[in-house]
Formats: sequence, structure tokens, C-alpha cells
Amino acid sequence: MSDFDYDLFVIGAGSGGVRAARISAGHGARVAICEESRLGGTCVIRGCVPKKLFTYAAHFSEDFEDAAGYGWNVGATEFSWPGLIRAKDREIARLEGLYRGSLERVGVEIMHGRGRLVGSHRVQVGDATISAEKILLAAGGHPWIPEFDGAEHAITSNEAFDLEELPRRVAVVGGGYIACEFAGIFNGLGSEVHQVYRGDRVLRGFDDDVRRVLGREMAARGVNFHFERNVVRIDRSDGGYEVRLDDGARIMVDCVLYATGRVPNSMGLGLDEAGVEVRADGSIPVDECSRTNVDHVFAVGDITHRINLTPVAIHEGHAFADTQFGGMPRPVDHDFVPSAVFSNPQVGTVGHPEHLARSHFGEVDIYRSEYTPMKQTLTGRPGKALMKMIVEREAQRVVGLHVVGPDAGEIVQGFAVAVKSGLTKQDFDATIGIHPTAAEELVTMRVPVQG
Ligand code: FAD
Repeated sequence: MSDFDYDLFVIGAGSGGVRAARISAGHGARVAICEESRLGGTCVIRGCVPKKLFTYAAHFSEDFEDAAGYGWNVGATEFSWPGLIRAKDREIARLEGLYRGSLERVGVEIMHGRGRLVGSHRVQVGDATISAEKILLAAGGHPWIPEFDGAEHAITSNEAFDLEELPRRVAVVGGGYIACEFAGIFNGLGSEVHQVYRGDRVLRGFDDDVRRVLGREMAARGVNFHFERNVVRIDRSDGGYEVRLDDGARIMVDCVLYATGRVPNSMGLGLDEAGVEVRADGSIPVDECSRTNVDHVFAVGDITHRINLTPVAIHEGHAFADTQFGGMPRPVDHDFVPSAVFSNPQVGTVGHPEHLARSHFGEVDIYRSEYTPMKQTLTGRPGKALMKMIVEREAQRVVGLHVVGPDAGEIVQGFAVAVKSGLTKQDFDATIGIHPTAAEELVTMRVPVQG
């Protein structure tokens, strides 16, 4: 038995912290975790989960319209925002309870309050000072809004899940995945949506074809894009807000949602005092086993700004626990992490976008198909889906897969196993498709489109 109160103290009970605490305790460690808000963190309380539930809600409007093409007369429909909020709140409370139960079952001590390092091996939570042999920083991040006149009128994703009313008109500022998802949600729920972005296309960093096709399809569904524009000020005006853009345009809306990036929650954690190095952007540098520059202090998840996704934070937390308390050294593997954007239509992606594949591998073969999803044949809905595969020419290894269209996230999750395993184009070709599906396209693309 060590002289410390605990073998491990975790700051932050989100995706990474909860997994690390639970697995470490399962390995026999004495563990405590502190949380200043609600158990579950960003993903469960104000991120992935409510977002995905809202995208389901938003999709019904399109489904009702499409039903007519299949002989259905749906009749008049009505949407209740308070009904959605109540249902979402119930589900989140249920999940929070599951998180609490999973920690309590393995004997993790849960403390409510803000944690702060106060010297070596010591953490303060409220009035209590706790000592621990190892400390894990899993405090996540928070939304960032630039400073400008009227910025105080803007909300972020944090508030968007609890608005009292569905805004009739919304300006979404930003071009990343969270901005695109909220634009799709509000558009599907019937709001007039303006998306303002300083770049010339959504989803910077993604494959160019994905960016092109998603922008086109979102616009076709009614999202009003204001590309290469910045917001210069927001003023409250009769019954709403006036958003002024840098080209002089003015947009009248009821809600301005900023999704312009997130910053790590490293402020006020006592990192200076404990000698933990922090980058200029607030993130904490760690090695492949999530160790900081201080030997007994570790960090996982968004606070390290490696790949800011829930399954990555969970993987990092789990690997940390196995390495430190399970006798199973497990460096973190960030290669070929698949991801999805739950926009309308969805995006699913794994591996390199074309521009990066070319710079990494030199010569590549590109397979691309833009097609009308079968369901749309009877609905008359315009628009095309995209499947794109990038193959390293010499080894014929599939190094990138990008899908825009219905169920893109589900499709790419399955194919990600093949891409992660290093399978070749020939392996894909040797796999018989499931007909009729959209995903069969990925095993039937025979002719590269260029070079
Ligand atoms: P978090 O889950 O943020 O947990 C950190 C916890 O620490 C929080 O509960 C916080 O309250 C607490 N905390 C902070 N400071 C302290 C302190 N000093 N003391 C005590 N507690 C503290 N990822 C996906 O993979 N798929 C998605 O679809 C997806 N959608 C998203 C949608 C939105 C709108 C947002 C904002 C994020 C989304 N993400 C998604 C990202 C995902 O939520 C994060 O990557 C993930 O939650 C990171 O986990 P974490 O453990 O690092 O931090």
C-alpha cells in the first residue's frame, strides 16, 4: 500500500477520464475522479449524443416528403421543440446514470467539483486536498468565440441543445463539422439557415471532393452559404439579431450559433505550479503513452489536442489504464482513425484525403463515383452521393475512403477495418458486394478516374 490517498486521481469525467478510471480500478488500482459539471462530459451531455438525436429529429421532415414517392400520404405534421428537448434530457440523464453506475461498480470514488493541481502528486477539489501516485488530466475543451462587437449575443453548441424555442432563423458561423451538423439540424427542423464561413468551402482539411459535394448538397437542401465572409458585428434588433458581414451584407436572425473551434480546458488547472508543459494553444503535449513532461502526470482526450473525437479519447484512456495499472504497455495508435460528419447528407471518412495521399505516397490511383441513391429514384429528390477511394499505386494499398450520402458513417465504420488492416484494391475487388446497397459501390469500382 502506497502512502498516497489514491493510486490514480482523474480530473474530468468525460469520455477519456471515465474510461481510464474504470479500467484502472478494474486492474486493482485505488481510483478517484472529480467532475465539475455532469458525468459523461462533452460527448454525452453537450456533444455527440444530443447532436445525433437532433439529427434524427431533423431528418423526419425529409422522410415525410419522400414518403409520398412511395405511395404514402403522411398528412399534416407538426414538430414540438420542447418535446424533443424533454426526450433528449431524459436520455442524457439515463446515460449519466449508466456512467455513474459503471464507476461505482468498480469502486471509483466520485467527487463533485473542480480539480486543480496543487504541487507534486496533490490535487485540490473544493476544500479537500487529495494525494495520488499518478494524476490523469482529462478535462476536455470548450467552444471558442472570437472577440468582436456583439459577440456576447452569440451562443455556442453548449447552449444550442437547451434553447427554449426553435429559432425561426439561424446564422451558423463556421465551416467545420459542428457548424455543418447544426446547419443541417436547424434546416431539417424548418428554420431558415445562413452559414457564414471565411473559407471558400466547408470542412477544411477533408478531401476536396467531399467538401465540394457536401457544400452542393447542403445548398440544395436550402442552407444559405456566405463563403469568404466574416461577421463584423452583431446587434440586437426588434425581435432578433442583425448580423453584419464584412461585405456589408446584413442578415436578420433569431439566433447566432458560433462553431469556430474549441480550446483545451487547461486554464486554471494549476499546471504551472506542477511544472506541466502547455503549448501556446493551451493543449498539453504528451508522449505515445499519454505521459506529460512530468513523470507522474498524464493527459488524454481533447486536452492533448491529438484527434479530438470521443472514441480516440476512450482509446487513449483505456491504453493509459492498461499501461500503468494492467501490466500491458499499450502505446496509442492514431493511424487511420475513421470519423463521420452527421450533416445532411452524412460524411464518412477514413485515411488520407487525396491531396495528403499524393504528398505522402507520390503516385496514387483515384476511384470515384457520384451516383443517385436508389431511394431517391421514386422520390424525385435531386442530388447525388459520393464514393471515393484512394489507392497507393505501387503497393495497391487502399489509403483513403470517403463517402458522402445516406448512412455514410455506418458504411465507413465497416470499411475502416479493411483500410486499417492495410488491405489492397485487389482485396476489395475480391469481395462480393451486397446488392442492392450503396456500399457495394466500394467493391465494384473498377476504373481509376485519373493518372
Ligand atoms: P470531455 O468529454 O470534454 O470531458 C471533460 C470533462 O472534464 C467535462 O465533463 C468537464 O466538465 C470536466 N472538467 C473540465 N475541467 C475540469 C476541472 N478542472 N475539474 C473537474 N472537471 C473538469 N466526437 C465524436 O467522436 N463524434 C461526434 O459525433 C462528436 N460530436 C460532437 C459534437 C459537439 C457539438 C461537440 C462539442 C463535440 C463532439 N465530439 C464528437 C467531440 C467529443 O465530444 C470529444 O472529443 C470528447 O468528448 C473528448 O473527451 P474528453 O474526455 O477529452 O473530454
